[in-house]
Amino acid sequence: MTHKDWLAVLAAIAIAAAGGCAGEQPPESGGTPSLRLYVFDCGTLHYDNADAYQLKREEVARTDMSMACFLVKHSKGTLMWDVGAVADGGWTPTGSPVRMKIVLPDKGERDVTMRKTLKSQLAEAGYSIADITYLALSHYHWAHIANANDFAGSTWLTRKPERDVMFSTPPPGRTIPANYSALANSKTVIIDQDTYDVFGDDTVVLKSAPGHTPGHQVLFLNLPKTGPVVLSGDLYHYPEERTLSRLPVLDFNREQTAASRAALEIFLNEKGAQLWIQHDIAGNEKLRKSPDYYD
Ligand SMILES: [Zn+2]
Repeated sequence: MTHKDWLAVLAAIAIAAAGGCAGEQPPESGGTPSLRLYVFDCGTLHYDNADAYQLKREEVARTDMSMACFLVKHSKGTLMWDVGAVADGGWTPTGSPVRMKIVLPDKGERDVTMRKTLKSQLAEAGYSIADITYLALSHYHWAHIANANDFAGSTWLTRKPERDVMFSTPPPGRTIPANYSALANSKTVIIDQDTYDVFGDDTVVLKSAPGHTPGHQVLFLNLPKTGPVVLSGDLYHYPEERTLSRLPVLDFNREQTAASRAALEIFLNEKGAQLWIQHDIAGNEKLRKSPDYYD
């Protein structure tokens, strides 16, 4: 091997080492463009049935739901995707799981278990709120928006029908508007096309998938090593909705949900992409959690 060849080998080893370790400080500028996806634990939602999804108890392996938040790190910036069910300021971590009841403004009650705040998980991964360039929510329901006010200084990527219902009078149900009220004054990009390429290189793409809510969207990521992945939002909740073709009872427009699901199946096929159902507790348990990451 020539001296030049050896230099190339050493450079390759250095690049592999830089990309391979979890928990290190992320490169903030320059260097090899690399895409990363961090998965945060934003709690567990306890249910003892799946009636709201037209699924019998015995048809569903597990009725509890995971609640996940995600951070995408791109060489041109960062994107938070869904920001939790319980605001960090609304509970006190103890080091052990904290089981608590959430009461929604419409008096609906939810039974959740929380383990870590979102901000502590961001910090463990080496990020603070100020590092977040973009915020995108799959939709406005309570379990996806709890810490949204913290990200009001980021640029909010949303769709007009979703934003309109979020700030409508009276406010929508199944959410806690006070948890996202600060977004009213955020720098905002209103997406008016089916797909929105966040960083301009087709690796991080918001895709319209309406029906569950008027402006519901999913997130496509083309990760260099993991490959293409779609984060579902609430297009599905249980994997059995997909395998048994069942629709939620309470979606904003169930025909739209069915059409969005059909379109997504075609897209997944075309891209060879995995679908990560965010509320799928068994699927979520298998995911690497931050400060580890997918690249
Ligand atoms: Zn929802």
